[in-house]
Amino acid sequence: MHRMKEFKTESKKLLDLMINSIYTNREIFLRELVSNASDAIDKLSFVALTDSTANITQDDLAIRISYDEDARTITVSDNGIGMTAEELEENLGTIAHSGSEAFKAEHAESQGDAMDIIGQFGVGFYSSFMVASRVRVVSRALGSNTAYAWESDGIEGYTIEPARPGERDGENDHGTDVILYLRESTDDEDVDRFLSEWGLRDLVKRYSNYVRYPIQMMVTKSVPVENPEDLPEDAPRYVDHQELETINSMTPIWKKRVSEVEQSDYDEFYKSTFHDYTDPLRTTSFHAEGALSYDALLFIPSEAPFDLYSKDYEKGLALYSSNVLIQEKCADLLPDYYNFVRGVVDSPDVTLNISRETLQQNAQLRAIAKRVERKIKSELSTMLADDREAYEKFFENFGRGIKFGIYNSYGMNASELADLLLFYSAKEDKMVTLREYVQAMPEGQDKILYAAGDSRDRLKKMPAVTSALARGYDVLLCTQDVDEFMIQAMRTYHMDAVAGDSENAGTDARDIELANVSTADLDLATEEEKSAAEQATKDHETLFEAMSESLGDKVGSVRVSANLTDAPACIATEGPISLEMERVMMQGPDANMAPKATRILELNADHPVFQKLVAAQQAGDVDKLAMYASLLYDQALLVEGLPVDDPVEFAKNVCALM
Ligand code: ADP
Ligand code: MG
Repeated sequence: MHRMKEFKTESKKLLDLMINSIYTNREIFLRELVSNASDAIDKLSFVALTDSTANITQDDLAIRISYDEDARTITVSDNGIGMTAEELEENLGTIAHSGSEAFKAEHAESQGDAMDIIGQFGVGFYSSFMVASRVRVVSRALGSNTAYAWESDGIEGYTIEPARPGERDGENDHGTDVILYLRESTDDEDVDRFLSEWGLRDLVKRYSNYVRYPIQMMVTKSVPVENPEDLPEDAPRYVDHQELETINSMTPIWKKRVSEVEQSDYDEFYKSTFHDYTDPLRTTSFHAEGALSYDALLFIPSEAPFDLYSKDYEKGLALYSSNVLIQEKCADLLPDYYNFVRGVVDSPDVTLNISRETLQQNAQLRAIAKRVERKIKSELSTMLADDREAYEKFFENFGRGIKFGIYNSYGMNASELADLLLFYSAKEDKMVTLREYVQAMPEGQDKILYAAGDSRDRLKKMPAVTSALARGYDVLLCTQDVDEFMIQAMRTYHMDAVAGDSENAGTDARDIELANVSTADLDLATEEEKSAAEQATKDHETLFEAMSESLGDKVGSVRVSANLTDAPACIATEGPISLEMERVMMQGPDANMAPKATRILELNADHPVFQKLVAAQQAGDVDKLAMYASLLYDQALLVEGLPVDDPVEFAKNVCALM
């Protein structure tokens, strides 16, 4: 009888820590065992390269998974390099001793970059005790005639004995079987689900789908019976039949170069991996080798997922390390404003903390994230330049997130994102970029003009917009709730110098202010028009005081506009809050605390209505003047798309007038 050997004290502590706290997710045990099996086959292949006596058939190399519901066991087998009794002792008796790490170091000179072994910490194996109360490892080293068995309950210690008859005693039967005796299911943890074909298949598909060796399992298939015409009518037409199936797809598509992959394969991969029904709008893959090496494959979806703008939406890229899934959605790899991007990053260099499970916010990850971000930006810029139609579709779906990105960072991301924005141009009747807007500005225009409201049609008719257009200035019509908040956060558009030999080449970089056409201090008017308006305001000082008084605290003041062309009056605002911002905030949760815009009633002195006002005042008809003031104010609000304060009063005034 072989004596049980105790785990070393520090090992015991670590083991306890491992099983109970490092891994948060029990189901990763299979990933760890499969990864070890894959490493063992890698080592065998490596040794076979240099040792011609090891006679290996590459095609036979495989990992096999089986289960026995009655015995409550799961077995993971490989025909890799195997372990001697000493190696069993060294690798499995000492926790945090990685034989793989040692193997890699030992062969560092001859291997070059060729060996892509997954293991490195020497703890993964013990994750099996999260689901098993006992683990038996039967292993036979390459070239040895005897198999040994290591067995442990994962608490006190382990035994190592020669294996039983029937256990790896065939000819050339090198490799390892890891047999897990599963714990009973508890209320907290359903272990039984692993004792099934679908349960195991699901884990392989999710975590080990791209392991490079076939992972095989006996599966039950329903097959049509042969010669059904010879059978009695009521005999079953299908019978169950057992068959060995490879359940992983092996080649990770992200490791391939674009030239080796058909777009349709990318599309299939995208749809099946990210559960989308439509093909991606853009696909991009990139690779790095050297100090930090990784492969990345990114997709921009065609449609926004239904929950994109909800709290439940989780951004992130799938993070793999040497083809094994580490995290399904690694949020650190994507900035919030590109949260719609899906894809995979695979890097053997991502340093993981103790186990693959706990990933540190580390320098490598940050470096990759930076590269990912730049890549997305350049992909979007390319799409904007080469495929405007697709870009407009993209922007319709995901533009809102980009706008939030500028707003949430108080404009700090503006330099990164401003050139990705599209706005609706009132003059061109289509979407334009800020750069296009600036390049089309007529001589003398020094601000980017926009109007914000809830509908384009209404904005187009707004007096401030029509008069800006009449002066030859384009106006960007903003109808999304975030628009004006974003613009306020960015304040200016930084236009990079124009390079190349286009007609605008040579233009220096500059910052151009964005201004709401409805703000009172906006001076579209010429100096003459402005001084004329000032003069007219002075001339009618008493009229305006009377009107302002009758309107009470609805307005800050009343004056003559230098901008209006057709309309009799409009509402302008003074200060940082515009009418549109006020409207958006009134719909928000803190409506009653929302700050109000300071409104100015501006009148068109050339409009016939103005003469009526003057006449009423000269006649000393205070009531009539008050009614006119109220009417003009209300109709100006309506034109802006805002509700009148008192609709009953408005209706009464209209009737009185008729
Ligand atoms: P790691 O894989 O990070 O090295 P593990 O705890 O998963 O750590 O495994 C410890 C060591 O046990 C491995 O480094 C390897 O040397 C050995 N080992 C585990 N499983 C196998 C196997 N199936 N075949 C051969 N060696 C194995
Ligand atoms: Mg391992």
